[in-house]
Amino acid sequence: MSDVRDVIIIGGGPAGYTAALYTARANLNPLVIEGFNWGGQLMITSDVENYPGYADGVLGPAMMADFRRQAERFGAEFVTDDVTRVDFSEQPLRVYIGEEEHQADAVIVATGASARQLGLHSEQTLQGRGVSYCATCDGAFFRDKVVVVAGGGDSAMEEATFLTRFASKVVIAHRRDEFRASPIMVDRARANEKIEFVLNAVVEEVLGTENGHVTGVRLRDTSTGKTSKLEADGLFVAIGHDPNTALFLDWLDHDEQGYLVPEAGSTRTNIPGVFAAGDVSDHTYRQAVTAAGSGTMAALDAQRFLEEQRHRPASANRGQTEGLTPVART
Ligand code: NAP
Repeated sequence: MSDVRDVIIIGGGPAGYTAALYTARANLNPLVIEGFNWGGQLMITSDVENYPGYADGVLGPAMMADFRRQAERFGAEFVTDDVTRVDFSEQPLRVYIGEEEHQADAVIVATGASARQLGLHSEQTLQGRGVSYCATCDGAFFRDKVVVVAGGGDSAMEEATFLTRFASKVVIAHRRDEFRASPIMVDRARANEKIEFVLNAVVEEVLGTENGHVTGVRLRDTSTGKTSKLEADGLFVAIGHDPNTALFLDWLDHDEQGYLVPEAGSTRTNIPGVFAAGDVSDHTYRQAVTAAGSGTMAALDAQRFLEEQRHRPASANRGQTEGLTPVART
C-alpha cells in the first residue's frame, strides 16, 4: 500500500495531462495513472490545426508527448497502466491497478472516450489485419490500396481525407443519405477525387482470406435490403465514441450514455474530492482545447477542495464520504 497522495489523475489525454501540469505547479505532486494507451484520442488524430499556439499545426501524438513532458517538468509522476477498480466510499479515496492500491485525498477522472465498433464478429477477427480505428496509426499500410471508411460524421470525413495520402481509393460507406458531419468536412471529402461515397449502406460483414486479411466488405442497402460486395484491402471504422466510464458508473452521477455529469459550472462530482475532466463528461464540444480547459478547471477545483480540507478540524473531515455506497445517483 502506498502513502496518501494529494491527488491522483486517472487518464492521459489533454484533460489529464493539463490537470497534471496545474496540480504539479501547485505542489500537489500528482500521480497520473495514464493508461496503457496514454495520449487518448489525439494518438489517432493526424494533423491538429486548431489547437491554439501551434500556428503551423502539429501531429496529435507529438502534441500529447509535449503535454506529458510539460507536466513531467514540474514533477508529475506517471504510471503507464490501467486502473482496474476504484473505491470512493470514504476518504482517502482508493484507486487500484490490479491488487496495487493507491490512495489520495482528491481524484481527477479524465479517462476520455473510445472509438465505437460496428459489433461484427468478422470485424473482431480481422482487427489489425485490415480492420482499423485509426487512420493515423495504420494509414501507411494501405499505400496504393483500396479502403472503406464506415461512418458519416466528421471523424469519417477526416479519416477518409487523411487516408487519401496513401490509398488509391477511399470509399465512405454511410448508413443514411444525410451526413452528421459538418458541411465543410463533407465538401472537402467530396472535392477529393480519390474519395467515393456509398450512401444508405451499412457494413454487414468484413470479408477476409483464410489466413486473415481483409478482401472487402459486404454492404447492405438500408432502403432496399439488397446486399453487395465491395472489394477493399482495409476497413476503417469511424462511427463515433463512447465515454470510458465503466469503472465509475457505480459511484458517480452519469447520463444515459454513460458520460459523467458534474455539478453545473464545475468539475465537482457527487462525491467530495472526485472531479471529472475532459471528454469523459463532455459529449458536446469534445475538442482537445476544451478538454485541456476542463483539466485546468478540475485541477483548480481539486486544489480548492484540498485547501478547504486542510483548514477544517480533523473531526469534520473524518467520514466525509462515509456511508456512500457504490450505487449510482441519477
Ligand atoms: P458522430 O458525429 O457521432 O458520427 C458518427 C457517425 O457514425 C454518424 O454518421 C452515424 O450515423 C455513424 N454510425 C454510428 N454508429 C454506427 C453503426 N453502428 N453503423 C454504421 N454507422 C454508424 O461521431 P464523430 O464523427 O466521431 O464526431 C464526434 C464529434 O467530434 C463531433 O462533434 C465532431 O464534430 C467532432 N469531430 C471534429 C473533427 C474536426 O472538426 N476536425 C474531427 C472529428 C470529430 P448516423 O448519422 O446515421 O447516426
